[in-house]
Amino acid sequence: MTTLADPVPGGRPGDVDRATALSRSLFEQGVHGIVLAYVDTAGIGRVKTVPTSRLASAAAWGVGMSPVFDTFLANDHIVTTDVLGSPDGDLRLYPDLDQVVVLAAQPGWAWAPVDRITQDGERHPGCSRTFLRRIVAAAARDHGLTFRAGIEIEWTVGRGSAPDGEFVPATTGPAYGATRQVELSDYLGDLLAALAAQGVDVDQVHPEYAAGQFEVSVGALDPVAAADRSVLVRQTVRAVAQRHGLRVSFSPAVVARGVGNGGHVHLSAWRDGRNLHSGGERRYGMTADAESFAAGVLAHLPALTAVTAPSPASHLRLKPSQWAGVFTCWGLETRETAIRVVTGTAGLRDQQANLEVKPVDLAANPYLALGCLIAAGLDGLASGASLPEEVTGDPAGLDAEEAAARGVRRLPTSLTEAVEEFRADGELRGALGPVLADAVAAVREGEIAAVHGLDDDRVAAAYRWVY
Ligand code: GLU
Ligand code: MG
Repeated sequence: MTTLADPVPGGRPGDVDRATALSRSLFEQGVHGIVLAYVDTAGIGRVKTVPTSRLASAAAWGVGMSPVFDTFLANDHIVTTDVLGSPDGDLRLYPDLDQVVVLAAQPGWAWAPVDRITQDGERHPGCSRTFLRRIVAAAARDHGLTFRAGIEIEWTVGRGSAPDGEFVPATTGPAYGATRQVELSDYLGDLLAALAAQGVDVDQVHPEYAAGQFEVSVGALDPVAAADRSVLVRQTVRAVAQRHGLRVSFSPAVVARGVGNGGHVHLSAWRDGRNLHSGGERRYGMTADAESFAAGVLAHLPALTAVTAPSPASHLRLKPSQWAGVFTCWGLETRETAIRVVTGTAGLRDQQANLEVKPVDLAANPYLALGCLIAAGLDGLASGASLPEEVTGDPAGLDAEEAAARGVRRLPTSLTEAVEEFRADGELRGALGPVLADAVAAVREGEIAAVHGLDDDRVAAAYRWVY
């Protein structure tokens, strides 16, 4: 379980002693530098690094970094809100010692996610990891709930030798095909070894549908740890690829047309050690609370897409009949509804049952995405919301009248539309707080302006190697 305690100047209780012992052990393992990782509002992973000898100091006093990154765009341009984006000020980055990992594919390095506080020791309202910790802590306090979450990772492997900027798939052969596993056998083997060495329990790795595409799924964790893990796994997928002369992209749409890279979220709510998605009185074993939670997520999905599918490239992926879940509906094990109710296998249901949310990609900041999904679910839970009738098959096949009658609507088809929905969703903005909510809107609007006038191919190219 990740610590939910905010960092404090001088260090969280016990952290300085822990960090001192940890740095000794890291030295013994040949680690000379620690990557301090966080994800900005645009979904870009950004880092600072410190020598291993500075870990205890970082645990006590943090490491300086400008707050300007809260309003960076994916192309490194900077937008502003009333309080963010200024060149003034400084923040302190605090490593979470519970999550320090020696990087197997980057010899000499360890990795840790960070929380950010102000120089005065206050929570930084723009810190997405702090936001998720706050949502998780409030759910425990107000509703007695904990969560288990997992973020699937799809990525595309290209040849490192391809002409600059171009994507040339590093494998041939059919979707899900044996050929791909054979051709990238060494890469995939090294990836599994690296993830195992880092203590990441992998459920499976498989060739996916699109050219050069693969997927890894990992075990569910508490939401903060699941978001950390999503960042760590991507760092590892990339680092192992680099050693094999390969280039990876997590962009929602590496090319403009066809199936893209998703980052589906699996989420379950638990109370007193019991999975609320199993063994209940409602459809498919859901308890009333699990149904209300799912209904809350469903109701907020149009606005949520501004957080879960935040890039202009996200909207190249969010197309019907490409398994990205672009209609506001749910179904049992249905791969075209935005929410797939997963009951799990008989005998394991009390452990496995969960909701899969599909209109999520890996341009999303995972802390914001999980925090907002949970906030949306809690809103449904608080109002005792219920789910409409389920959808079977592909909702793209419903005629307009039937879809309208059943409340099935297409999610926003552009980032502009998504931002409008987001701006109109007071609940979601309230959960984020004004600073983060304004940062989300400003950064999305910045991305929209950055691609103004570009056709789909050029949008895909602009973000191809950014995520
Ligand atoms: N690649 C699909 C997406 O963009 C998902 C495929 C799957 O269901 O695993 O979400
Ligand atoms: Mg997949």
